[in-house]
Amino acid sequence: MNNHNSAGRLCPHCGRIKSDQSTTFCETCEEADRLDYKRIRSYLQHHPQANAMEVANNTELSINRVLYFLKNKNLQLRAPENKNPHNAKLP
Ligand SMILES: [Zn+2]
Repeated sequence: MNNHNSAGRLCPHCGRIKSDQSTTFCETCEEADRLDYKRIRSYLQHHPQANAMEVANNTELSINRVLYFLKNKNLQLRAPENKNPHNAKLP
């Protein structure tokens, strides 16, 4: 396999060729990431007990997007993560 050359040139989000090879994502996706990150961070500042689903619903982002930021951008939920939402217990 010799695909590591092209992998670095393409944006892993949208698959387009990046103009700036030093960034992880293309310019458009980097900008979208910044905006979505701010949205989630500011929501969590006002609602520190929110779970991932609530963040997704209230920021109008997809749950996968929220989980991606939690995992990759050092955002943390204070409420304990419940791996199976069907078993979530409400207080
Ligand atoms: Zn992109």
